[in-house]
Amino acid sequence: MDDLAARVAIVTGAAKGIGAASARAMARAGARVAVLDVDGEAGERLAGEIRGEGGQAMAVACDVSDPGSVSAAVASVAQRWGGVDVLHSNAGIQRYGTVVDTDEDTWDRVLGVNLKGAFLMAKAAVPWMVRAGRGSIVITASVQGLLSQPNVVAYAASKGGLIAMARTMALDHAHQNIRVNVVCPGSVDTPMLRWAAGELGDRKRVDDTVSHWGRAHPLGRVARPEEVAEVVVFLASDRASFVTGAVVAVDGGLSAALFDPGAADR
Ligand code: NAD
Repeated sequence: MDDLAARVAIVTGAAKGIGAASARAMARAGARVAVLDVDGEAGERLAGEIRGEGGQAMAVACDVSDPGSVSAAVASVAQRWGGVDVLHSNAGIQRYGTVVDTDEDTWDRVLGVNLKGAFLMAKAAVPWMVRAGRGSIVITASVQGLLSQPNVVAYAASKGGLIAMARTMALDHAHQNIRVNVVCPGSVDTPMLRWAAGELGDRKRVDDTVSHWGRAHPLGRVARPEEVAEVVVFLASDRASFVTGAVVAVDGGLSAALFDPGAADR
């Protein structure tokens, strides 16, 4: 329960979905949690809910793709709570398109939020971890960084980039007692997934599309955000003290299958 006691944790994209589940779980594990999100109002609501449940949380409006916004947000957390011990870099956006129909603005925005955002957050947070003599960074990538599907050229590039970046960060900062790990979720029931189900399927039958996508996973369903958060909290905590540079699939077996004979029956 107190795996993150006395730790200061920053979670990005924390107002909704996987980030919100992570922020709640970190607070329950004893961390003081900074809820960073571009949607400042939703971030304030979540921080208020965490405090209402007895946890410690502050909300900071932050666009992770904006260097000024990131450095101001990290500085405000570190000044209030004396440092930064844990960073869950999770903010991300999804856009669909091939290399031909993805325009440059879309490419720049997706790479800017998903990949540069994690770079900027780490750049601002790592010096505080060095000062503390310890730190743990967890990055939310995706199974789409490992394997692919059609029509996700910018998103897949950003997620593959995160995995490569995390590995080199793990090597660069191991001697400073800073661990860097990646989670690769399959489909997770969040506002992003439901938006995608509306874009790609029948807008009136989002539940059916989500269930259909769930059946593609060997476990036969999509994940709950809390199931990803469990793994994030483990990786963030000292229970994972010898784990760094790892890429952990949280995907109901999706990336295990070359051919899944059970898929037709689900
Ligand atoms: P979501 O859209 O439900 O929530 C994302 C949160 O990030 C929102 O609160 C949003 O306001 C915030 N955000 C967006 N742009 C931001 C920015 N520039 N700066 C700060 N905050 C920003 O998404 P989710 O499904 O919870 O996804 C979280 C992460 O998990 C993303 O990186 C996503 O790519 C990844 N992921 C999701 C799934 C899935 O099926 N849901 C699967 C694999 C990976």
